Amino acid sequence: MQGAVPVFIDVNPETMNMDETKIEAAITPRTKVIVPVHYAGVGCEMDTIMDIAQRHNLLVVEDAAQGVCATYKGKYLGTIGHFGCYSFHETKNFISGEGGAVLINDERFMERAEIIREKGTNRSQFFRGMVDKYTWVDIGSSYLPGELIAAFLYAQLEESDKISTKRLSIWQQYHELLAPLEEKGLLRRPVIPDTCGHNAHMYYILLKDLKTRTELIAHLKANGISAVFHYVPLHNAPKGIELCGGKAPSLPLTEEYADRLLRLPCYYELAPEDVTYVCRCVEDFLSRGC
Ligand SMILES: *Cc1c(COP(=O)(O)O)cnc(C)c1O
Repeated sequence: MQGAVPVFIDVNPETMNMDETKIEAAITPRTKVIVPVHYAGVGCEMDTIMDIAQRHNLLVVEDAAQGVCATYKGKYLGTIGHFGCYSFHETKNFISGEGGAVLINDERFMERAEIIREKGTNRSQFFRGMVDKYTWVDIGSSYLPGELIAAFLYAQLEESDKISTKRLSIWQQYHELLAPLEEKGLLRRPVIPDTCGHNAHMYYILLKDLKTRTELIAHLKANGISAVFHYVPLHNAPKGIELCGGKAPSLPLTEEYADRLLRLPCYYELAPEDVTYVCRCVEDFLSRGC
């Protein structure tokens, strides 16, 4: 929307977060910002990313949409870069239907942020008695949530420990029940680096190939389980290709994982016996030697 051109780099094979060893080669004199996406609520390698940003005089905007309440080396995701973005979309851990928050971790940007969210006016300064009338001073839009949405979200945040504990126990149950299948080489489970305290945003498995995934989805569906894959890569999506100058860059790991990844059901109401049932169906399918 601001005319910036994203430069995509490949993911690291363990967490599928941005491969921080590939960042520097992608920096040009026109680079302004690094945008680490904390996939599945597992932190990117932020120490390295912040160090690169400092050496190249770049800003860091963390996409912590999936990372609310998760940590990297004890710091909350979204609080490490110059900016952090949270999502409260219905698909996230804490929700208000639609909505989100920007964390501004650098004082330099506070004043302008207030103006942008107040439709480009200095109304916030007016309310604080700092100016005697408010006026149009910058770009902006209606970015504030309404009170109904804020009230809903507030209740979610009051329950955030309970929600997190429940999600983590679902995640852990999957992780333990699926360990034998990983040992047999039938799937790969998520990898959580020691530096990261994840938030159980999702539980995914990596399968051998696209064909296995397609068949497993059908098998689970026949057993009453909705399991979905995601996301289609952006670098070779129509708009991505256009922004990359008409030709998609080659990001082999991103492309491979996009074909192999399957999300298993993971939501607050999911009962332990449901998790057991899902795992049994996955096992039934994978151990019949497909
Ligand atoms: C959900 C999500 C977004 C978008 O969040 P919205 O609140 O819908 O704007 C962005 N990035 C990631 C990684 C997400 O998971």
